[in-house]
Amino acid sequence: MINRTRRLRKTENIRRLVRENKLTIDDLIYPLFIEEGENIETEIVSMPGIKRFSLDTISKELDEVVALDIPAVLLFGIPSEKDDTGSETWNDNGIMQRAVRFIKKNYPDLYVITDVCFCEYTSHGHCGIIHDNDVDNDATLVNLAKQVISHAKAGVDMVAPSGMMDGMISTIREALDNTGFPNLPIMSYAVKYSSAFYGPFRDAADSAPTFGDRRTYQMDPSNRDEGLREATFDDQEGADILMVKPALSYLDIIRDLKNNFDRPIACYNVSGEYAMIKAAAANGWIDEERVMMEALLSMKRAGADIIITYFAKDVAKVLLKK
Ligand SMILES: [Zn+2]
Repeated sequence: MINRTRRLRKTENIRRLVRENKLTIDDLIYPLFIEEGENIETEIVSMPGIKRFSLDTISKELDEVVALDIPAVLLFGIPSEKDDTGSETWNDNGIMQRAVRFIKKNYPDLYVITDVCFCEYTSHGHCGIIHDNDVDNDATLVNLAKQVISHAKAGVDMVAPSGMMDGMISTIREALDNTGFPNLPIMSYAVKYSSAFYGPFRDAADSAPTFGDRRTYQMDPSNRDEGLREATFDDQEGADILMVKPALSYLDIIRDLKNNFDRPIACYNVSGEYAMIKAAAANGWIDEERVMMEALLSMKRAGADIIITYFAKDVAKVLLKK
């Protein structure tokens, strides 16, 4: 006897009936870069279609996000002033805080998540306070608490700490609970690798380290078991959503988290993954729409419930067409 698996692939309608995974607009979070200043609308060369906006120019982008029914945005702030500690991150009138207030006032239903880190705000570009040429974990935690409280007061819907500091989730949970924000959720960049796929983002967010690299706090791409360990700690410390970053080269890690944790799993389809598809498509080497949809579907299939992606608007347009 021959096992005839092709029987269930014969027509589009039978394929629809047995289809296991589906990408929807409900899965998407769109990252936004918001720069301090006026009249800014700067295209990021390595990320075609993605721009840095100032608050006075960002409305048309937000109008489009809302019109496409994308549920959430993830904000990155680009301040005009940087210092050693990234003290602008807890300025109640900083770019991030003003952006949150602006969006929640004008687009009250759009779900607003803030990236919580220091690298766009420090003169050295690292994700915390530097002592002896390395990021001082516990000194950084103190400032992380100040930063999330400031975001919470501005009215953010969710915070997303990305610095890979040990104890960051318990520190943030405690800070929020003690200041009247026990219901504010945390999406942890739980398993974040020290990856070359972040290259274009660093142009976008102006956050490349001026010395060294991030390998003393971000994970070694060689390690899989360690990803489970990282996620376990964040789960125990009270993260509401666990994220894997990057996505495409780390689909095994997404599946590990899906199998091991009873929490929603997010992944970050990072700038380098976006840039590769855009560049190959611009050369006519691949079918952009099909490759984009297949790449994002692979993240769903791996186990991601939520996908943070620069493709969010493009994907929404494809899905709305159908
Ligand atoms: Zn950082």
